[in-house]
Amino acid sequence: MDETRPEGQLVLVATPIGNLGDLSPRALELFRSADVIYCEDTRHSRVLFSANGISSGGRLQALHEHNEVAQSEHVVTRVREGQLVVLISDAGTPGISDPGARVVAAVAAAGLRVSTAPGPSAVVAALSISGLPTERFVMEGFMPRKANERVRLFSTWAEEERTIVFYESPQRLAGVLSELARSFPERRVAVVRELTKLHEEVLRGTLLEVAAHLEQREILGEIVVVLEGGRLVVEVDAELIRGALEEQFSSGVSTRDAVDFVAETLGVARRLVYQLALDVRKDATP
Ligand code: SAM
Repeated sequence: MDETRPEGQLVLVATPIGNLGDLSPRALELFRSADVIYCEDTRHSRVLFSANGISSGGRLQALHEHNEVAQSEHVVTRVREGQLVVLISDAGTPGISDPGARVVAAVAAAGLRVSTAPGPSAVVAALSISGLPTERFVMEGFMPRKANERVRLFSTWAEEERTIVFYESPQRLAGVLSELARSFPERRVAVVRELTKLHEEVLRGTLLEVAAHLEQREILGEIVVVLEGGRLVVEVDAELIRGALEEQFSSGVSTRDAVDFVAETLGVARRLVYQLALDVRKDATP
């Protein structure tokens, strides 16, 4: 390797999802020093650069879902030559429901450096202000347009314990939420719209409440929906519990220990197991 040549890298840079003030100083610095900036739409990104007094000076190249594979080869060549290559999308974090994942994979597979200047992302921003559990979540992207594909997807959500995040357009939002309300009426939902913009708003409630509200009102703008996961209710048969208790008693275990053991192993309420234990003991008394 040429020691005098700087090491090249691909840097994914997040850009604002509404408020231009969210562009980080580091992002600006990378824009100034990049050899080339790949973006989804050069006309769109030129507006961002001129708003920040940065001359794109012929450095903008288009990289979108239709040419990402072909452009990846050029990116790899440039990084290998030692260039600083920046990748942005129209808004938010590249590669997240936007082009980027395939070019990152190509550069990484070539053993070259990939880095990030993190920042706005609609998914994380919506989740963080949803008021719903954030420890574990699943991102479903855009809802399928076809009703039968939605039905199939929603059936998998019956047992999904993690918080579910998806995008939906304002035109289809009310319809999709009322479909969901039929399956999961009591699940909590947060409809998050126009993040960081003038009309930023979060509608919170059960699916039934929010779906009913949206039937009365027009909603506009960009939207992320955050939906509570399901709480798994495991129905354990009383006969199964009795059988487990009888097994414990036959090996001479005390009522208390048998109840603790069975409640723990079957994952059922101790109170219920204790009640059944009293019955089993009574039945066994001659
Ligand atoms: N890569 C982007 C990111 O990290 O935010 C997401 C790109 S995805 C193609 C665009 C979708 O994100 C929009 O259709 C909308 O659902 C959501 N979105 C983008 N900006 C938003 C905003 N300011 N408020 C709410 N949702 C937004």
